[in-house]
Amino acid sequence: MAEIIDGKAIARQLDEKTKAEVDAMVAAGLPRPGLAVVLVGNDPASEVYVRRKMKGCEKVGINSFEHRLPAETSQDALLTLIARLNADPEVHGILCQVPLPAHIDTRTILAAITPEKDVDGFHPVNVGRLSTGTGGIVPCTPLGVMMLLDSVIDDFVGLDAVVIGKSNIVGKPVALMLLDRECTVTVTHIYTENLPEIARKADIIVAAAGAPELVKGDWVKPGAVLIDVGITRIMGENGKEKLVGDIAFDEVQHAKAVTPVPGGVGPMTIACLLHNTVQAAKALAENGEGNGLDPYHDAPDRSLIYGTSEGSA
Ligand code: NAD
Repeated sequence: MAEIIDGKAIARQLDEKTKAEVDAMVAAGLPRPGLAVVLVGNDPASEVYVRRKMKGCEKVGINSFEHRLPAETSQDALLTLIARLNADPEVHGILCQVPLPAHIDTRTILAAITPEKDVDGFHPVNVGRLSTGTGGIVPCTPLGVMMLLDSVIDDFVGLDAVVIGKSNIVGKPVALMLLDRECTVTVTHIYTENLPEIARKADIIVAAAGAPELVKGDWVKPGAVLIDVGITRIMGENGKEKLVGDIAFDEVQHAKAVTPVPGGVGPMTIACLLHNTVQAAKALAENGEGNGLDPYHDAPDRSLIYGTSEGSA
């Protein structure tokens, strides 16, 4: 039987560590970390995500500042708000919930956030830092993927990793992080030929395609570790909606370990956002802006990231 990697439990451990870090910062006289969340319009899914993020902040003691703007907000007005948040000493992380309304250029907005407060890790400077291995804030879902892999793999060197999906927010950063850990990485996508054959040689598969149950049992080598990022809402047999991942979960019991959907990667994303916010606050307090912050590599205690130190719940 494959081990089921419990994303909820690992996210909870990370939250506990994040909370302990916040408490320690405040006790040391440092500012309490603050996250500004900007929501333009009233996309229902975005509303849910923003609510969860605010709740997460409350749980770990991070100050949260919610900025709700009407859908007709101009790009200039949004840029003005971002400039204000960039300069606000109480704000250490800025998150602009996407998708933005069509009249606003998402790339311009994301690039306007100062890289040291870009806790989503989407700013071109942070993307560049990740791809050159020179630090930077890394995107939350890929960071969560790495933490889940770290919970079951001790040594990544030389492992064969196949990433399915090449988006900027999941596939590409995951591939870069796996490369950084000395894996041999194959990045695949919708036009990749012989995907089952490529997947079959993998020690690690990270599936981030958004294609329900794409990865079948016979695509998986015995003993492989499988991380399922995909989330698709489908109608279940009982007429109720259910969430399905990219991996045919019931067919992969010969794997070493697999993440469930839900309860795998999903819970890690917000926990990593909170973690990134605290690392950003620390770095800003220590160095100010332009410090080359590296929460992934240079966290003062790597167990903060990996959840394996003594004392973890
Ligand atoms: P995307 O649509 O931007 O990219 C999908 C990628 O998968 C593309 O590169 C595409 O070429 C590839 N792909 C699609 N169908 C494929 C197929 N049949 N075979 C091979 N490759 C295929 O998606 P995204 O934003 O990267 O998200 C991917 C999935 O991960 C979605 O289901 C999304 O909901 C989920 N997601 C989950 C979280 C989380 O927190 N758990 C976060 C982000 C995304």
